[in-house]
Amino acid sequence: MSTPLPNMPSKSYYQATANRVVKTNALQGDTNADVVVIGAGYTGLSAALELAKAGYKVVVLEAHEIGHGASGRNGGQICTGFSSGQAKVEGQLGKADARRAFALAEESKKLIVERIAGHEIDCDLQWGYLHCTPKPHQFKHLEEWAAEYEALGYGGNTLLSKAELEQKIGTTIYHGALRESHAGHMHPLNYCLGLAAAAQKAGAVIHENAPVIEVDTGRSPFARTAKGKVSAKFMVIAGNAYLGRSVKPLYGRVMPVASYIIATEPLGEAQATALIRDNEAVANTNFIVDYFRRSKDHRMLFGGRASYSGRMPASLAEYMRPRMTHVYPQLKDVKIDYAWGGYIAITSNRIPDCGRLSPTVYYAHGYSGQGVALAGLYGKLMAEAVRGTAERFDLLARVKHLPFPGGAARTPLLVAAMAYYRLRDALS
Ligand SMILES: Cc1cc2nc3c(=O)[nH]c(=O)nc-3n(C[C@H](O)[C@H](O)[C@H](O)COP(=O)(O)OP(=O)(O)OC[C@H]3O[C@@H](n4cnc5c(N)ncnc54)[C@H](O)[C@@H]3O)c2cc1C
Repeated sequence: MSTPLPNMPSKSYYQATANRVVKTNALQGDTNADVVVIGAGYTGLSAALELAKAGYKVVVLEAHEIGHGASGRNGGQICTGFSSGQAKVEGQLGKADARRAFALAEESKKLIVERIAGHEIDCDLQWGYLHCTPKPHQFKHLEEWAAEYEALGYGGNTLLSKAELEQKIGTTIYHGALRESHAGHMHPLNYCLGLAAAAQKAGAVIHENAPVIEVDTGRSPFARTAKGKVSAKFMVIAGNAYLGRSVKPLYGRVMPVASYIIATEPLGEAQATALIRDNEAVANTNFIVDYFRRSKDHRMLFGGRASYSGRMPASLAEYMRPRMTHVYPQLKDVKIDYAWGGYIAITSNRIPDCGRLSPTVYYAHGYSGQGVALAGLYGKLMAEAVRGTAERFDLLARVKHLPFPGGAARTPLLVAAMAYYRLRDALS
């Protein structure tokens, strides 16, 4: 079983506007490859693309369709650094190596730009990101954040007062923002489909509707589906939150957390511009974050909430609408055309988890809600490691993670953790 939680409504705005040119064949029978990749999201496709370009025979097995997981459902927000914040990375790696890790995270954004240009991926890339603070006294955190970026040599950031922010976004609920020039947003599924097309063009074979039900993660790995088996010299495991128990040693290293997004009806250019003047990505600075942006066809795409419980709200649209109208009361009567959700894989410290299950089996997952850019990087680093240059992968693999509890304690513990973070957002 690859999906551990209930299926999400999947009729998303992204699917309705997908540029799908990729055609795939079913896996039938047994085959050999240099590398078998499990999962066709950013991580798996990035590894597949790099390895196929380098001449490796690559087979990708995807349980559903390309981009079925978080990569085809997310907020499309291209973020900076790691979800944990830099201090936690420093705590794990020391200052100098944490700085290298930050530089790698920056490289992940450049990789997106290069791939969009190099493979002509049409995915509405847009730069500019506003981190908005919900409480006046939290402005000092934005100042500290800006200073941290400065110290890391990451420029292009501006602090905006409440009044300046109100010129840019049509809401008065925030008390200032940190604006990044080098973060932004894009159509996440179209980027994912573009990566898949590029990997195929480079020679990778992608099989959809091919859930892996058995793996050998020893020195001579294989992945088996109900219809066939791929034996390979190397394996790259990129199933992230959707992997469930299909690779047992990885179960418990990440926790699937549901996040939801709604897309309004098209608002017209004038109204959309009145909401987010410069078409930037926007998020608040809460732990349980609201994130939103405009789409190319002038809708509001509003995401947030988080659920560890595995229980689906009866109507996602009505569950999410109050979050959106809290920020934008002027949208109270607009129609919500699409509502969907997906599973984020979080780690206990919110730094991604990567490593080896044997000398030839690599995995990376747990971007903790910040994988639009990072997942492509980790895929690339696994490809580098397969090709024999593992320094950069090993730097990130040094991060230590506490596993989540298994069994009956798992869900109640996380629901309690969630309640704690809600309270922290309310009181801080
Ligand atoms: C609603 C939502 C909003 C988000 N918003 C943002 C955002 O705005 N910015 C940001 O940076 N990050 C965001 N994220 C996180 C980001 O989308 C992920 O970190 C990233 O897409 C992870 O990519 P991946 O390839 O590792 O995993 P996924 O995209 O989840 O891909 C894993 C794939 O593996 C397949 N799979 C799993 N098990 C098996 C198996 N046994 N056999 C075969 N295939 C299998 C799955 O079907 C899936 O397609 C969001 C996530 C969600 C869910």
